[in-house]
Amino acid sequence: MTQKIIIVGGVGGDATVAAQIRRQDRTSEVILFDKGNHISFSNCGMPYYIGEVVENREDLLVEAEAFAEKYGVIVRTNAEVTAIHRSKKQIQYKDHDGVHTETYDKLILSPGADPIVPVISGLNTDRTFTLHTIPDMDNIYTFIQNNKPKHVAVIGAGFIGLEMVENLRAIGLDCTIIDRSEQVMKLVDKDMANLIETHLTAKGVHVILNNGLDSFSNDGKTLHLTSGKTVQADMTILAVGIKPKSALAVGASLALGNKEAITVNEYMQTSDPNIYALGDAVETKDFLTDSNRYAALAWPAHRQAFVIASHLQKIKIPYRGTLGSAILKAFDLTVAATGHTTSSLENLGYSFKEVTLDTYSHAGYYPGSEKLSLKILFDSKNGTIYGAQGVGLAGVDKRLAVLTTAIKGKLTVADLPELQMAYAPPYSSPEDPVNIIGYKAVAMLEKKETR
Ligand SMILES: Cc1cc2nc3c(=O)[nH]c(=O)nc-3n(C[C@H](O)[C@H](O)[C@H](O)COP(=O)(O)OP(=O)(O)OC[C@H]3O[C@@H](n4cnc5c(N)ncnc54)[C@H](O)[C@@H]3O)c2cc1C
Repeated sequence: MTQKIIIVGGVGGDATVAAQIRRQDRTSEVILFDKGNHISFSNCGMPYYIGEVVENREDLLVEAEAFAEKYGVIVRTNAEVTAIHRSKKQIQYKDHDGVHTETYDKLILSPGADPIVPVISGLNTDRTFTLHTIPDMDNIYTFIQNNKPKHVAVIGAGFIGLEMVENLRAIGLDCTIIDRSEQVMKLVDKDMANLIETHLTAKGVHVILNNGLDSFSNDGKTLHLTSGKTVQADMTILAVGIKPKSALAVGASLALGNKEAITVNEYMQTSDPNIYALGDAVETKDFLTDSNRYAALAWPAHRQAFVIASHLQKIKIPYRGTLGSAILKAFDLTVAATGHTTSSLENLGYSFKEVTLDTYSHAGYYPGSEKLSLKILFDSKNGTIYGAQGVGLAGVDKRLAVLTTAIKGKLTVADLPELQMAYAPPYSSPEDPVNIIGYKAVAMLEKKETR
Protein backbone atom coordinates (compact mmCIF):
# COMPACT_ATOMS: atom_id res chain seq x y z
CA MET A 1 0.00 0.00 0.00
CA THR A 2 1.36 3.40 -0.96
CA GLN A 3 1.71 5.63 2.05
CA LYS A 4 3.54 8.72 3.21
CA ILE A 5 6.24 7.88 5.72
CA ILE A 6 8.14 10.52 7.67
CA ILE A 7 11.38 9.70 9.44
CA VAL A 8 12.81 11.97 12.12
CA GLY A 9 16.59 11.70 12.29
CA GLY A 10 18.98 10.61 9.58
CA VAL A 11 21.93 8.73 11.06
CA GLY A 12 22.17 5.30 12.77
CA GLY A 13 18.66 3.89 12.92
CA ASP A 14 16.91 6.44 10.80
CA ALA A 15 18.97 6.31 7.61
CA THR A 16 18.89 2.52 7.93
CA VAL A 17 15.12 2.44 8.24
CA ALA A 18 14.82 4.58 5.08
CA ALA A 19 17.06 2.14 3.20
CA GLN A 20 15.21 -0.87 4.61
CA ILE A 21 11.81 0.56 3.67
CA ARG A 22 13.00 1.12 0.11
CA ARG A 23 14.23 -2.47 -0.20
CA GLN A 24 10.71 -3.70 0.53
CA ASP A 25 8.55 -0.86 -0.80
CA ARG A 26 9.26 1.00 -4.03
CA THR A 27 6.18 3.21 -4.08
CA SER A 28 5.59 4.90 -0.74
CA GLU A 29 6.73 8.48 -0.31
CA VAL A 30 9.51 8.64 2.27
CA ILE A 31 10.71 11.95 3.72
CA LEU A 32 13.67 12.01 6.10
CA PHE A 33 14.36 15.02 8.35
CA ASP A 34 17.58 15.69 10.20
CA LYS A 35 18.26 18.81 12.16
CA GLY A 36 21.96 18.51 11.42
CA ASN A 37 23.85 18.98 8.20
CA HIS A 38 24.92 15.36 7.82
CA ILE A 39 23.00 12.13 7.44
CA SER A 40 24.09 8.54 7.68
CA PHE A 41 27.55 9.44 9.01
CA SER A 42 29.70 6.89 10.80
CA ASN A 43 29.64 8.20 14.36
CA CYS A 44 31.47 5.07 15.52
CA GLY A 45 34.44 6.13 13.37
CA MET A 46 34.79 9.63 14.82
CA PRO A 47 37.34 8.83 17.57
CA TYR A 48 39.57 7.25 14.91
CA TYR A 49 39.51 10.40 12.76
CA ILE A 50 40.67 12.42 15.78
CA GLY A 51 43.44 9.84 16.29
CA GLU A 52 44.36 10.09 12.59
CA VAL A 53 43.75 6.38 12.09
CA VAL A 54 40.99 7.30 9.64
CA GLU A 55 42.75 9.83 7.47
CA ASN A 56 39.93 11.25 5.38
CA ARG A 57 37.01 12.98 7.07
CA GLU A 58 34.93 12.31 3.94
CA ASP A 59 35.23 8.56 4.56
CA LEU A 60 32.88 8.99 7.54
CA LEU A 61 30.27 10.88 5.56
CA VAL A 62 27.54 10.06 3.07
CA GLU A 63 26.35 12.75 0.64
CA ALA A 64 22.70 13.54 1.36
CA GLU A 65 21.98 13.92 -2.38
CA ALA A 66 23.58 10.57 -3.18
CA PHE A 67 21.60 8.88 -0.38
CA ALA A 68 18.35 10.49 -1.57
CA GLU A 69 18.96 9.35 -5.12
CA LYS A 70 20.08 5.82 -4.22
CA TYR A 71 17.05 5.10 -2.05
CA GLY A 72 14.47 7.34 -3.73
CA VAL A 73 13.76 9.29 -0.55
CA ILE A 74 13.38 13.01 0.08
CA VAL A 75 16.08 14.18 2.47
CA ARG A 76 15.68 17.44 4.37
CA THR A 77 18.78 18.36 6.35
CA ASN A 78 19.03 21.35 8.71
CA ALA A 79 15.32 20.75 9.30
CA GLU A 80 14.34 20.15 12.91
CA VAL A 81 11.04 18.49 13.69
CA THR A 82 9.65 20.50 16.58
CA ALA A 83 6.21 19.00 17.25
CA ILE A 84 3.90 16.12 16.42
CA HIS A 85 0.18 16.80 16.07
CA ARG A 86 -1.18 13.29 16.37
CA SER A 87 -4.84 14.16 15.84
CA LYS A 88 -3.98 15.70 12.44
CA LYS A 89 -1.22 13.13 11.68
CA GLN A 90 1.07 16.04 11.06
CA ILE A 91 4.54 17.13 12.11
CA GLN A 92 5.84 20.64 12.46
CA TYR A 93 9.41 21.45 11.48
CA LYS A 94 11.63 24.47 11.14
CA ASP A 95 14.38 25.16 8.65
CA HIS A 96 16.17 28.25 7.33
CA ASP A 97 12.90 29.36 5.66
CA GLY A 98 10.77 29.26 8.79
CA VAL A 99 8.21 26.90 10.30
CA HIS A 100 6.31 24.38 8.16
CA THR A 101 4.07 21.34 8.52
CA GLU A 102 3.94 17.99 6.78
CA THR A 103 1.34 15.25 7.08
CA TYR A 104 2.11 11.55 7.48
CA ASP A 105 0.47 8.18 7.34
CA LYS A 106 3.26 6.64 9.40
CA LEU A 107 5.86 8.46 11.47
CA ILE A 108 9.19 6.96 12.54
CA LEU A 109 11.15 8.58 15.36
CA SER A 110 14.88 8.00 15.57
CA PRO A 111 16.17 11.18 17.19
CA GLY A 112 18.94 9.40 19.10
CA ALA A 113 20.32 10.70 22.38
CA ASP A 114 22.17 13.71 23.73
CA PRO A 115 25.52 13.50 25.49
CA ILE A 116 25.14 14.45 29.14
CA VAL A 117 26.86 17.69 30.09
CA PRO A 118 26.69 18.02 33.87
CA VAL A 119 26.32 21.48 35.37
CA ILE A 120 29.84 22.11 36.66
CA SER A 121 31.10 25.47 37.83
CA GLY A 122 34.01 26.96 35.91
CA LEU A 123 33.41 24.82 32.79
CA ASN A 124 34.91 26.62 29.78
CA THR A 125 33.04 25.54 26.65
CA ASP A 126 36.00 26.64 24.49
CA ARG A 127 38.15 23.82 25.87
CA THR A 128 35.58 21.26 27.07
CA PHE A 129 34.00 18.95 24.51
CA THR A 130 31.61 16.07 23.99
CA LEU A 131 31.75 13.72 21.01
CA HIS A 132 28.41 12.85 19.43
CA THR A 133 28.14 14.55 16.06
CA ILE A 134 30.35 15.53 13.15
CA PRO A 135 30.48 19.17 14.36
CA ASP A 136 31.60 17.84 17.79
CA MET A 137 34.37 15.87 16.06
CA ASP A 138 35.38 18.89 14.00
CA ASN A 139 35.50 21.08 17.12
CA ILE A 140 37.85 18.66 18.89
CA TYR A 141 40.02 18.23 15.80
CA THR A 142 40.24 22.00 15.19
CA PHE A 143 41.02 22.73 18.83
CA ILE A 144 43.91 20.27 18.72
CA GLN A 145 45.23 21.69 15.44
CA ASN A 146 45.00 25.32 16.58
CA ASN A 147 45.96 25.08 20.24
CA LYS A 148 48.41 22.17 20.29
CA PRO A 149 47.26 20.93 23.73
CA LYS A 150 49.66 18.69 25.65
CA HIS A 151 47.49 17.39 28.47
CA VAL A 152 43.94 16.12 28.06
CA ALA A 153 41.48 15.00 30.71
CA VAL A 154 38.81 12.52 29.71
CA ILE A 155 35.90 12.28 32.12
CA GLY A 156 34.18 8.88 31.99
CA ALA A 157 35.89 5.54 31.40
CA GLY A 158 33.18 3.94 29.30
CA PHE A 159 33.20 3.23 25.55
CA ILE A 160 33.75 6.74 24.23
CA GLY A 161 36.15 7.71 27.02
CA LEU A 162 38.37 4.69 26.37
CA GLU A 163 38.28 5.13 22.57
CA MET A 164 39.23 8.77 23.04
CA VAL A 165 42.23 8.13 25.29
CA GLU A 166 43.55 5.59 22.81
CA ASN A 167 43.21 8.01 19.92
CA LEU A 168 44.52 11.02 21.82
CA ARG A 169 47.57 9.01 22.89
CA ALA A 170 48.02 8.01 19.24
CA ILE A 171 48.59 11.67 18.36
CA GLY A 172 51.00 12.11 21.25
CA LEU A 173 48.84 13.72 23.93
CA ASP A 174 49.24 13.05 27.63
CA CYS A 175 45.92 11.66 28.91
CA THR A 176 44.25 11.37 32.29
CA ILE A 177 41.04 9.38 32.45
CA ILE A 178 38.80 10.03 35.43
CA ASP A 179 35.76 8.04 36.56
CA ARG A 180 33.68 8.27 39.68
CA SER A 181 33.17 4.52 39.91
CA GLU A 182 35.68 2.00 41.26
CA GLN A 183 36.42 0.49 37.84
CA VAL A 184 36.78 1.38 34.18
CA MET A 185 34.27 0.01 31.65
CA LYS A 186 31.22 -1.08 33.60
CA LEU A 187 30.15 -3.32 30.74
CA VAL A 188 32.41 -5.95 32.32
CA ASP A 189 32.92 -7.08 35.92
CA LYS A 190 35.61 -5.54 38.09
CA ASP A 191 38.05 -8.46 37.75
CA MET A 192 37.95 -8.07 33.96
CA ALA A 193 38.05 -4.27 34.19
CA ASN A 194 41.23 -4.52 36.26
CA LEU A 195 42.97 -6.04 33.21
CA ILE A 196 41.92 -3.03 31.14
CA GLU A 197 43.09 -0.61 33.82
CA THR A 198 46.52 -2.28 33.98
CA HIS A 199 46.81 -2.05 30.19
CA LEU A 200 45.84 1.63 30.14
CA THR A 201 48.51 2.39 32.72
CA ALA A 202 51.07 0.43 30.69
CA LYS A 203 50.16 2.63 27.72
CA GLY A 204 50.95 5.77 29.72
CA VAL A 205 47.38 6.76 30.57
CA HIS A 206 46.86 8.20 34.06
CA VAL A 207 43.82 6.45 35.50
CA ILE A 208 41.96 8.09 38.39
CA LEU A 209 39.00 6.14 39.78
CA ASN A 210 36.55 6.69 42.65
CA ASN A 211 36.68 10.35 41.76
CA GLY A 212 34.05 12.58 40.23
CA LEU A 213 34.67 15.93 38.56
CA ASP A 214 33.56 18.58 41.01
CA SER A 215 34.49 21.89 39.36
CA PHE A 216 36.90 23.71 37.06
CA SER A 217 39.02 26.79 37.75
CA ASN A 218 41.85 28.63 35.98
CA ASP A 219 39.88 29.24 32.77
CA GLY A 220 38.75 25.60 32.68
CA LYS A 221 42.31 24.26 32.84
CA THR A 222 42.34 23.02 36.43
CA LEU A 223 39.95 20.19 37.27
CA HIS A 224 38.96 19.76 40.91
CA LEU A 225 37.94 16.21 41.77
CA THR A 226 35.63 15.09 44.56
CA SER A 227 38.58 13.71 46.57
CA GLY A 228 40.23 17.13 46.60
CA LYS A 229 42.76 16.05 43.98
CA THR A 230 43.43 18.43 41.07
CA VAL A 231 44.33 17.66 37.45
CA GLN A 232 45.75 20.14 34.93
CA ALA A 233 44.44 19.82 31.37
CA ASP A 234 44.55 21.99 28.26
CA MET A 235 41.34 20.38 27.08
CA THR A 236 38.68 18.12 28.59
CA ILE A 237 36.49 15.52 26.92
CA LEU A 238 33.22 14.77 28.71
CA ALA A 239 32.14 11.20 28.08
CA VAL A 240 29.84 10.67 31.03
CA GLY A 241 26.89 9.11 29.27
CA ILE A 242 23.88 10.00 27.17
CA LYS A 243 20.21 10.68 27.69
CA PRO A 244 17.56 9.64 25.16
CA LYS A 245 16.03 12.48 23.19
CA SER A 246 12.41 12.18 24.16
CA ALA A 247 11.14 15.79 23.97
CA LEU A 248 9.13 15.19 20.77
CA ALA A 249 7.55 12.08 22.27
CA VAL A 250 6.77 13.89 25.52
CA GLY A 251 5.18 16.77 23.58
CA ALA A 252 3.00 14.23 21.76
CA SER A 253 2.08 12.42 25.02
CA LEU A 254 3.67 9.15 23.90
CA ALA A 255 4.48 6.70 26.71
CA LEU A 256 8.01 6.72 28.15
CA GLY A 257 9.86 3.96 30.01
CA ASN A 258 12.06 3.95 33.11
CA LYS A 259 14.98 5.85 31.58
CA GLU A 260 12.74 8.42 29.92
CA ALA A 261 13.27 6.62 26.64
CA ILE A 262 10.30 6.01 24.35
CA THR A 263 8.31 2.86 25.14
CA VAL A 264 7.77 0.55 22.16
CA ASN A 265 6.13 -2.82 21.61
CA GLU A 266 7.82 -5.77 19.87
CA TYR A 267 7.12 -4.20 16.45
CA MET A 268 8.68 -0.90 17.57
CA GLN A 269 5.32 0.87 17.71
CA THR A 270 4.98 3.56 20.36
CA SER A 271 1.78 4.00 22.34
CA ASP A 272 0.39 5.46 19.08
CA PRO A 273 0.36 2.61 16.53
CA ASN A 274 0.96 5.05 13.66
CA ILE A 275 4.21 6.19 15.24
CA TYR A 276 7.23 3.91 15.43
CA ALA A 277 10.50 4.62 17.26
CA LEU A 278 13.95 3.04 17.35
CA GLY A 279 17.59 3.38 18.27
CA ASP A 280 19.08 5.35 21.14
CA ALA A 281 15.73 7.01 21.85
CA VAL A 282 13.86 3.83 22.83
CA GLU A 283 13.72 1.35 25.66
CA THR A 284 13.08 -2.26 24.71
CA LYS A 285 12.87 -5.58 26.53
CA ASP A 286 15.98 -7.41 27.65
CA PHE A 287 16.50 -10.56 25.56
CA LEU A 288 17.09 -12.77 28.60
CA THR A 289 15.01 -11.40 31.41
CA ASP A 290 12.17 -9.53 29.69
CA SER A 291 12.87 -6.59 32.00
CA ASN A 292 13.21 -3.12 30.44
CA ARG A 293 16.55 -2.51 28.77
CA TYR A 294 18.16 0.66 27.45
CA ALA A 295 21.18 0.10 25.23
CA ALA A 296 22.61 2.71 22.86
CA LEU A 297 24.30 0.48 20.30
CA ALA A 298 24.35 0.25 16.53
CA TRP A 299 23.11 -3.38 16.24
CA PRO A 300 19.74 -2.84 17.96
CA ALA A 301 19.10 0.30 15.86
CA HIS A 302 19.80 -1.59 12.63
CA ARG A 303 17.70 -4.61 13.59
CA GLN A 304 14.85 -2.40 14.76
CA ALA A 305 14.96 -0.61 11.38
CA PHE A 306 14.35 -3.98 9.68
CA VAL A 307 11.51 -4.82 12.08
CA ILE A 308 9.79 -1.49 11.31
CA ALA A 309 10.27 -1.72 7.54
CA SER A 310 8.77 -5.23 7.63
CA HIS A 311 5.87 -4.19 9.84
CA LEU A 312 5.02 -1.37 7.42
CA GLN A 313 4.61 -4.13 4.83
CA LYS A 314 2.36 -6.04 7.26
CA ILE A 315 5.11 -8.60 7.85
CA LYS A 316 5.26 -9.24 11.58
CA ILE A 317 8.84 -9.92 12.64
CA PRO A 318 9.18 -9.10 16.34
CA TYR A 319 12.22 -7.48 17.92
CA ARG A 320 13.11 -10.13 20.47
CA GLY A 321 14.89 -7.92 22.96
CA THR A 322 18.37 -6.59 23.48
CA LEU A 323 21.35 -8.64 24.58
CA GLY A 324 23.69 -5.64 24.55
CA SER A 325 26.58 -7.34 22.76
CA ALA A 326 29.40 -4.83 22.55
CA ILE A 327 33.06 -4.79 21.62
CA LEU A 328 35.79 -2.24 22.10
CA LYS A 329 39.42 -1.78 21.14
CA ALA A 330 41.38 -0.32 24.05
CA PHE A 331 44.92 0.08 22.69
CA ASP A 332 46.15 -3.50 22.10
CA LEU A 333 43.33 -5.08 24.06
CA THR A 334 39.99 -6.22 22.77
CA VAL A 335 37.19 -5.98 25.32
CA ALA A 336 33.84 -7.60 24.57
CA ALA A 337 30.72 -8.41 26.53
CA THR A 338 27.23 -9.74 25.97
CA GLY A 339 24.20 -10.21 28.19
CA HIS A 340 24.41 -9.50 31.90
CA THR A 341 27.17 -8.61 34.35
CA THR A 342 27.44 -9.56 38.00
CA SER A 343 25.96 -6.26 39.08
CA SER A 344 23.01 -6.35 36.67
CA LEU A 345 22.16 -9.92 37.76
CA GLU A 346 22.44 -8.93 41.42
CA ASN A 347 20.12 -5.99 40.77
CA LEU A 348 17.63 -8.37 39.17
CA GLY A 349 17.91 -10.72 42.14
CA TYR A 350 18.99 -13.70 40.00
CA SER A 351 20.78 -16.69 41.50
CA PHE A 352 23.88 -17.26 39.38
CA LYS A 353 27.42 -18.55 39.30
CA GLU A 354 30.45 -17.16 37.52
CA VAL A 355 33.50 -18.84 36.06
CA THR A 356 36.65 -17.34 34.57
CA LEU A 357 39.36 -18.79 32.37
CA ASP A 358 42.80 -17.30 31.79
CA THR A 359 44.16 -18.88 28.66
CA TYR A 360 45.70 -18.17 25.25
CA SER A 361 44.15 -17.25 21.92
CA HIS A 362 45.67 -20.32 20.18
CA ALA A 363 48.34 -23.01 20.57
CA GLY A 364 51.19 -21.55 22.63
CA TYR A 365 53.93 -22.85 20.35
CA TYR A 366 52.50 -21.14 17.27
CA PRO A 367 53.60 -17.50 16.82
CA GLY A 368 51.16 -14.80 17.85
CA SER A 369 49.54 -16.71 20.69
CA GLU A 370 48.27 -14.07 23.13
CA LYS A 371 46.67 -13.94 26.56
CA LEU A 372 42.91 -14.19 26.67
CA SER A 373 40.62 -13.99 29.70
CA LEU A 374 37.05 -15.21 29.44
CA LYS A 375 34.23 -15.11 31.93
CA ILE A 376 30.70 -16.46 31.86
CA LEU A 377 27.79 -15.96 34.24
CA PHE A 378 25.16 -18.66 34.38
CA ASP A 379 22.09 -19.82 36.25
CA SER A 380 23.14 -21.65 39.40
CA LYS A 381 20.58 -24.42 38.87
CA ASN A 382 20.04 -25.07 35.16
CA GLY A 383 23.18 -23.55 33.64
CA THR A 384 21.41 -21.02 31.38
CA ILE A 385 24.07 -18.59 30.20
CA TYR A 386 23.28 -15.03 31.31
CA GLY A 387 26.38 -13.21 30.20
CA ALA A 388 29.88 -13.50 28.80
CA GLN A 389 32.91 -11.22 28.89
CA GLY A 390 36.29 -11.36 27.23
CA VAL A 391 39.47 -9.30 27.53
CA GLY A 392 42.65 -10.09 25.68
CA LEU A 393 45.18 -9.33 23.01
CA ALA A 394 43.75 -11.74 20.42
CA GLY A 395 40.84 -14.09 19.84
CA VAL A 396 38.31 -12.25 22.00
CA ASP A 397 35.88 -11.31 19.23
CA LYS A 398 35.55 -14.90 18.01
CA ARG A 399 34.84 -16.34 21.48
CA LEU A 400 32.29 -13.65 22.29
CA ALA A 401 30.57 -14.21 18.96
CA VAL A 402 30.24 -17.91 19.80
CA LEU A 403 28.97 -17.19 23.32
CA THR A 404 26.49 -14.62 22.00
CA THR A 405 25.17 -17.22 19.59
CA ALA A 406 24.96 -19.73 22.44
CA ILE A 407 22.84 -17.31 24.47
CA LYS A 408 20.55 -16.58 21.51
CA GLY A 409 20.18 -20.31 20.91
CA LYS A 410 19.30 -20.76 24.62
CA LEU A 411 22.17 -23.18 25.11
CA THR A 412 23.32 -23.94 28.64
CA VAL A 413 26.88 -24.28 29.94
CA ALA A 414 26.54 -28.07 29.40
CA ASP A 415 26.37 -27.42 25.65
CA LEU A 416 29.62 -25.46 25.51
CA PRO A 417 32.02 -28.47 25.75
CA GLU A 418 30.04 -30.04 22.89
CA LEU A 419 30.54 -27.16 20.44
CA GLN A 420 32.70 -28.59 17.68
CA MET A 421 35.05 -25.67 17.18
CA ALA A 422 37.41 -25.81 14.21
CA TYR A 423 41.05 -26.26 15.22
CA ALA A 424 44.46 -25.66 13.72
CA PRO A 425 47.39 -24.22 15.74
CA PRO A 426 47.19 -20.65 14.34
CA TYR A 427 43.53 -20.39 15.41
CA SER A 428 42.82 -22.32 18.57
CA SER A 429 43.69 -25.42 20.59
CA PRO A 430 42.10 -28.84 20.16
CA GLU A 431 39.80 -27.81 22.96
CA ASP A 432 38.83 -24.24 22.38
CA PRO A 433 38.64 -21.80 25.34
CA VAL A 434 34.85 -21.84 24.88
CA ASN A 435 34.86 -25.63 25.41
CA ILE A 436 37.13 -25.39 28.43
CA ILE A 437 35.16 -22.68 30.19
CA GLY A 438 32.10 -24.86 29.57
CA TYR A 439 33.77 -27.82 31.31
CA LYS A 440 34.67 -25.58 34.25
CA ALA A 441 31.11 -24.29 34.53
CA VAL A 442 29.63 -27.80 34.39
CA ALA A 443 32.03 -28.93 37.14
CA MET A 444 30.84 -26.04 39.29
CA LEU A 445 27.22 -27.02 38.76
CA GLU A 446 27.88 -30.72 39.50
CA LYS A 447 29.88 -29.99 42.65
CA LYS A 448 27.27 -27.41 43.62
CA GLU A 449 30.21 -25.04 44.12
CA THR A 450 29.28 -21.55 45.16
CA ARG A 451 30.94 -18.75 43.29
C1 LIG B 1 31.57 8.50 19.21
C2 LIG B 1 30.60 7.35 19.12
C3 LIG B 1 31.09 6.08 18.90
C4 LIG B 1 30.21 5.00 18.84
N1 LIG B 1 30.73 3.75 18.62
C5 LIG B 1 29.89 2.69 18.57
C6 LIG B 1 30.40 1.39 18.31
O1 LIG B 1 31.61 1.20 18.09
N2 LIG B 1 29.52 0.34 18.31
C7 LIG B 1 28.17 0.52 18.53
O2 LIG B 1 27.41 -0.46 18.51
N3 LIG B 1 27.67 1.75 18.75
C8 LIG B 1 28.48 2.84 18.77
N4 LIG B 1 27.96 4.09 18.98
C9 LIG B 1 26.50 4.22 19.18
C10 LIG B 1 25.73 4.21 17.86
O3 LIG B 1 26.33 5.13 17.00
C11 LIG B 1 24.28 4.58 18.13
O4 LIG B 1 23.72 3.58 18.94
C12 LIG B 1 23.45 4.72 16.86
O5 LIG B 1 23.98 5.72 16.04
C13 LIG B 1 22.01 5.07 17.24
O6 LIG B 1 21.27 5.49 16.12
P1 LIG B 1 20.05 6.50 16.31
O7 LIG B 1 19.40 6.63 14.98
O8 LIG B 1 19.22 6.12 17.45
O9 LIG B 1 20.71 7.89 16.72
P2 LIG B 1 21.75 8.80 15.94
O10 LIG B 1 22.63 7.97 15.10
O11 LIG B 1 22.39 9.66 17.00
O12 LIG B 1 20.85 9.71 14.98
C14 LIG B 1 19.90 10.61 15.48
C15 LIG B 1 19.76 11.76 14.48
O13 LIG B 1 18.51 12.41 14.74
C16 LIG B 1 18.65 13.80 14.52
N5 LIG B 1 17.57 14.48 15.24
C17 LIG B 1 17.35 14.46 16.59
N6 LIG B 1 16.25 15.16 16.90
C18 LIG B 1 15.74 15.62 15.72
C19 LIG B 1 14.63 16.42 15.38
N7 LIG B 1 13.77 16.86 16.31
N8 LIG B 1 14.42 16.73 14.08
C20 LIG B 1 15.27 16.28 13.12
N9 LIG B 1 16.36 15.53 13.39
C21 LIG B 1 16.59 15.20 14.68
C22 LIG B 1 20.04 14.09 15.07
O14 LIG B 1 20.56 15.28 14.49
C23 LIG B 1 20.83 12.84 14.64
O15 LIG B 1 21.47 13.06 13.40
C24 LIG B 1 28.82 5.20 19.01
C25 LIG B 1 28.31 6.49 19.23
C26 LIG B 1 29.19 7.57 19.27
C27 LIG B 1 28.64 8.95 19.51
